[in-house]
Amino acid sequence: MARTNPPTIASKALPFTPEEINRLTERFPTPFYLYDEAGIRRSARQLNRSFAWAPDFRNFFAVKATPNPAILKLLAGEGMGADCSSLAELVLAEDSGLTGKDIMFTSNDTPAADYQKAAGMGAIINLDDITHIDYLERVVGLPEVICFRYNPGPARSGNSLIGQPQEAKYGLTRRQLSQAYAIAKQKGVKRFGLHAMVVSNELDSKPFIETAEMLFEIVAELSTTLGIRFEFVNLGGGLGIPYRPDEAEIDLAGLSNGIERAYRDKIAARGLDPLRIVMECGRFLTGPHGFLVAKVLHLKHTYKHYVGLDASMADLMRPGMYGAYHHLSVLGKQDQPLRQRYDVTGPLCENNDKFAIDRLLPAVEVGDTVAIHDAGAHGHAMGFNYNGLLRCAELLRRPDGEVELIRRAETLDDYFATLRF
Ligand SMILES: *Cc1c(COP(=O)(O)O)cnc(C)c1O
Repeated sequence: MARTNPPTIASKALPFTPEEINRLTERFPTPFYLYDEAGIRRSARQLNRSFAWAPDFRNFFAVKATPNPAILKLLAGEGMGADCSSLAELVLAEDSGLTGKDIMFTSNDTPAADYQKAAGMGAIINLDDITHIDYLERVVGLPEVICFRYNPGPARSGNSLIGQPQEAKYGLTRRQLSQAYAIAKQKGVKRFGLHAMVVSNELDSKPFIETAEMLFEIVAELSTTLGIRFEFVNLGGGLGIPYRPDEAEIDLAGLSNGIERAYRDKIAARGLDPLRIVMECGRFLTGPHGFLVAKVLHLKHTYKHYVGLDASMADLMRPGMYGAYHHLSVLGKQDQPLRQRYDVTGPLCENNDKFAIDRLLPAVEVGDTVAIHDAGAHGHAMGFNYNGLLRCAELLRRPDGEVELIRRAETLDDYFATLRF
């Protein structure tokens, strides 16, 4: 048998040259997040273009994915609203210039203060439970427009990241949904929305088309039986991105065509149009365009080979929490053969503080710079301070090549600010 050479494929494109990133590491200490504005804008335009047929289509960017004013503002410039789920996210959106109908408030187990802020801003409020009609009425009063979140339960299956709908804490059952709209109508609510989100990080277009079909059927049924007017359906977020080099992007054109067909058959044919279609995608817009940049601090050879980075699970939790794959590029060595299997770790006292396990990489040396791909959504945002690790900076590369610090790194003073010595 001929000896096979080590594989050299499995590379993923970087929008930055290794030299450019290495120059940045001289200006800004690693680790840091680096976002590519041109890429984010490209994805935003791609999503908007796909739904050009839909009356008044709008994506409300899920703020939790990348909660930074610079990101919210550039997405607002591409026509996106903000999908908020907490008081802090509402304030962040407001201070980024988004307000009123630019905001979708999709929360659950919601505190009174959050509803008061959302209502005060004139946000579109999406209720997660039938009991929240009375709660909202008591704490702030009912607005003119109300949306409800539907959980289809056993009628649909979720995916591995979000779990099965019956096990999900979100949303109302189908029976509760009918009751909820009837109650809201009786209490004077004038216009209505319907929301469902059953998959997350999904690369297959089919579940999104099925969700749209399901929601259109419910809109048709409730419009007739309750005599109410639906203004919009909200398909949620969950459009996936190819984290692995061998995965393909989601077929947005196919997804949009499938939804358009369902719209024609189930909404337009029944005279229920115009019905606005909105989404709450986060990951699709920023995920592929953010990188966690770190340096190799140590190499360790025991029962396995370890690459120790100056970034940790406190900077990017997805691999440790979900076993999520994030592609790693060792800068300047992207074309070198993958010679060695490594576990790539951070300094947390937690054995799941690993960015990769048994990953084939080129021969790594201390001082190498590593870019961790597809960290632009649910990356920095999920960061934490366990072990006293400080949260890192965020940088944005503008389309003209200028790099801007859009969040400074935390200092020890920040970390100790809430303590009393
Ligand atoms: C997390 C979340 C989103 C965004 O999900 P992405 O995977 O980033 O698209 C949208 N809506 C709701 C209700 C969510 O919880």
